[in-house]
Amino acid sequence: MLSIKDLKASVGEKEILKGINLDIPKGEVHVIMGPNGVGKSTLAHVLMGSKAYQLSNGHIYLDSEDISQLDTAERAKKGVFLAFQYPVAVPGLRLSEYLRNLYNIRHEKQLSVSEFRKVLKDKLQLLEIDRVTLQRYLNDGFSGGEMKRFEMLQLLLLEPKLAILDEIDSGVDVDAQKIVANCINHVAKENKTSFLIVTHYQRLLSFIKPDKVHVVLDGIIHRSGDMSLVDELERKGYDHIRQNHPTVTL
Ligand code: ADP
Ligand code: MG
Repeated sequence: MLSIKDLKASVGEKEILKGINLDIPKGEVHVIMGPNGVGKSTLAHVLMGSKAYQLSNGHIYLDSEDISQLDTAERAKKGVFLAFQYPVAVPGLRLSEYLRNLYNIRHEKQLSVSEFRKVLKDKLQLLEIDRVTLQRYLNDGFSGGEMKRFEMLQLLLLEPKLAILDEIDSGVDVDAQKIVANCINHVAKENKTSFLIVTHYQRLLSFIKPDKVHVVLDGIIHRSGDMSLVDELERKGYDHIRQNHPTVTL
């Protein structure tokens, strides 16, 4: 599904990603962990085609197609979805309208308000979102938990091939984390969406049980493993990994 080959990216003179190699098969959930400032968000944005970064080397393949030169809109069309660490609020843009447009564009359909209501029903249930909330404006005055659940609702409607979630669990209480995790598990299983999840917290991972965990240090994937790697990180910290496991590049 997603294949990243020797990806290097920089901002101005500063190289941030220094050769990322990563493969995520269809329907697998992979997690990226690492201390602040190592390039996790940069990787998320570069995958989505942000113009803030210059790609100096490497390729990104989605379903064997090289998407590294496509712009953000084209990548979204091909099925890449990014949930932001800090979603923007758009006062004046009503959620119900926004979501219906989003769905119609993605599915090249023109669902009426009542047809779309049916599409939403089980999705709202899964995320425990009250229908009344849809009369509010996009992210306007939303709590952390509400914001993240709406990011997940967009994901459910768009049915992407690849979903990138950047710190979707930050500032979210344990109940909302469980809801988000359930939704991720559901989408990975039912839609065979591949996930790249950036997180600092073990708790979300205990609900998700990812297929693979990758530790990013200084712009590269320093180590990959299963959930036991998360336990090791929790006990020993990133410095231990940095010192005791010399970088292996593929
Ligand atoms: P992480 O998400 O792992 O905490 P980031 O990817 O946000 O880290 O940032 C990695 C490094 O790149 C940091 O030193 C950050 O200051 C720098 N950086 C990221 N984006 C930009 C940008 N648009 N302009 C300048 N520096 C940036
Ligand atoms: Mg970040």
